[in-house]
Amino acid sequence: MRIETQLAQLGSNKETKTGAISYPVYYSTTYRHAGLGESTGYDYTRTANPTRAVLEEAIARLEGGTAGFACSSGMAAVQTVMGLFARGDHLIVSLDLYGGTYRLFESLMTRYGLSFSYVDFRRLDEVKAAIRPETRAFFVETPTNPLLQVTDLHAVCEIARCHGLITIVDNTFMTPYFQRPIECGADIVIHSATKYLGGHNDVLAGLIVTKGEDLSEQMAGLHNAIGAVLGPQDSWLLLRGMKTLALRMEKHQENAYQLAHFLRQHPLVDEVFYPALQSETWEIQTKQADGGGGMLSFRVKSPALVGPLLSSLRLIAFAESLGGVETLITYPHTQTHADIPEETRRKVGVCDRLLRLSVGIENVDDLIADLAQALDQAERVWKEEKRDEVRDPIAPQR
Ligand SMILES: *Cc1c(COP(=O)(O)O)cnc(C)c1O
Repeated sequence: MRIETQLAQLGSNKETKTGAISYPVYYSTTYRHAGLGESTGYDYTRTANPTRAVLEEAIARLEGGTAGFACSSGMAAVQTVMGLFARGDHLIVSLDLYGGTYRLFESLMTRYGLSFSYVDFRRLDEVKAAIRPETRAFFVETPTNPLLQVTDLHAVCEIARCHGLITIVDNTFMTPYFQRPIECGADIVIHSATKYLGGHNDVLAGLIVTKGEDLSEQMAGLHNAIGAVLGPQDSWLLLRGMKTLALRMEKHQENAYQLAHFLRQHPLVDEVFYPALQSETWEIQTKQADGGGGMLSFRVKSPALVGPLLSSLRLIAFAESLGGVETLITYPHTQTHADIPEETRRKVGVCDRLLRLSVGIENVDDLIADLAQALDQAERVWKEEKRDEVRDPIAPQR
């Protein structure tokens, strides 16, 4: 079955007792045993829950993996995967990394004796040079957040295989609709399902998919032992959201493409980052993914434009997060990337002129009109400020 069909039918033929099309929410935390040594497969809900199991089976199949695990958040998924490693282990990680993952690694995991090197995965020689005897894994995001840089997954997974390392990919930005890292050679896929998979900014969830029986068994043990599992109601909400993933991703992408073109020709915009706009990036992206997704970022001409632009938007919400049906704009400098050291931020290009858009599924003309009027307003404020500076000679000089 094609992916759109799998998605629309999630859980719809699993309930045999009543034939319910929408899979029920099983709230029971415990399950009766018929006798000694007997079980329906469900004993205690942390270990397994029927509603969660439908979701876990679904994500494993969509990603082409062996087993799936639903967690209480994307960060819980990352932490559960980190349970694979022990004191002394070293991981090589994407330099342009989700801020919360960076914080977890540096503020907590280092205390448990893990160490991390942050490398630009577009430079394969730097990746190879960072490998040490104690290196165990690569942890990759592609495209990266917020600069939409693309890592060649086939090449990176091949390097990992040659050195006996595992490759972990955070696939939040692409979802299995556009990209299936396990098909490229990855061993573990992680999602913040809070984003595109849920799709409606109303459920916090994380997912893990593992390849192979060994890793899957280990992960099942960690998932149960750590206990950061997804509740039954949230599992159901996520299943419901995922049914429309294909339609949403197509629309997110179509709108993002048009907004990227609008922004690129705007005189107040210096640079636009969207995978389809950079030919070198696009060449790699089309080898490993079926599209460019719905995220883009752009640099405005001056940091003085940012404040007035954000307060002039009427439709697009200035809010953190991404992947929902509503268009959101974020300012990575003070929001998502605030925990990343200034030096790293500068190195990857997250500056005070950069804005990130999670493009929703609204009519794109309304989105363009909103951005256009907000940019006009911002320009007016900016020019007035400059004029005031000239008029008032004691005003501080920049
Ligand atoms: C949001 C996000 C996370 C963290 O997920 P939560 O569900 O917020 O815990 C991890 N990785 C990426 C790429 C994200 O965007």
